[in-house]
Amino acid sequence: SLMITDECINCDVCEPECPNGAISPGEEIYVIDPSLCTECVGHFDEPQCQQVCPVDCIPHDPQHAESQDQLYAKYQLIVSSV
Ligand code: SF4
Ligand code: SF4
Repeated sequence: SLMITDECINCDVCEPECPNGAISPGEEIYVIDPSLCTECVGHFDEPQCQQVCPVDCIPHDPQHAESQDQLYAKYQLIVSSV
């Protein structure tokens, strides 16, 4: 999963780009739900939120480091549950 750091300026451009609905406005800054973020695996070659963020504040979340296989399994789980 990726994460949003406190550099976030709450511009809201990332939220609509997420194919998994993983991004939402948090109490102070935007947040990513690690259970929904597949790093865009299954949808796109590159993380879409990283592509659009004007302040480049969406790195990998060291607390939620996952392999491509794990991310793809998460994608399949999300797709099968909707
Ligand atoms: Fe959503 Fe992709 Fe960003 Fe994860 S990397 S929060 S799935 S847009
Ligand atoms: Fe925050 Fe970047 Fe998302 Fe804008 S695009 S809301 S700065 S994380």
